[in-house]
Amino acid sequence: MAGWNLECLTVGPLQMNAWLLVDPASGEAALIDPGDHPTRLLARLDAAGARLRWLLATHGHFDHIAAAVAIQAHRDLPLLIHPADAFLVAAMPDHQRAFGLPPTPVPRIETSLLEGRELPLGSGALTVTEVPGHSPGQVMFTWPGHAIVGDCIFAGSVGRTDLPGGDLAALEASIRERIYTLPDVTVIHPGHGPDTTVGREKATNPFVAGR
Ligand SMILES: [Zn+2]
Ligand SMILES: [Zn+2]
Repeated sequence: MAGWNLECLTVGPLQMNAWLLVDPASGEAALIDPGDHPTRLLARLDAAGARLRWLLATHGHFDHIAAAVAIQAHRDLPLLIHPADAFLVAAMPDHQRAFGLPPTPVPRIETSLLEGRELPLGSGALTVTEVPGHSPGQVMFTWPGHAIVGDCIFAGSVGRTDLPGGDLAALEASIRERIYTLPDVTVIHPGHGPDTTVGREKATNPFVAGR
């Protein structure tokens, strides 16, 4: 909503964008995709003087959730995720080993991020929308003018679909039917790389054409 502060913290070996969303009026915060550097994420939360209300994952890949356990040691919150990605959370240590990275403990999750769920934050709310394809339980979080989309779409690119549960046809449908139907001025905040807009991707994205 108007007045929310959004901060991007790029963390980890895969340069993943974690998002700290703060409503200064109420002091409530949401942390989306706690992928790495938990001390840095907690320090930013403390600097904002905010109370963490929501710990959220766009999807279950380790680069987006590996710091959740360390956050949970300081904030008693489940990591909310879509049920279709619970298998990825369970397999996280194996996926980290496959990438040559040290495994981290699996976080406590609550599989309640279903289509249309509203997550209140101060006087506004984040809306959960399913955008499967990169993973089966990939969701995006939207509020007026903004969409935090995880690895569904990037500036000039799209999420890979060759990982377990990936589905190219589903990804294309998610982008055309759920993202390209947002207002053109909507700012897209992807899981990797710079922000973009719906209008720019519709006009120039080489992987999923907008018309
Ligand atoms: Zn991913
Ligand atoms: Zn990622």
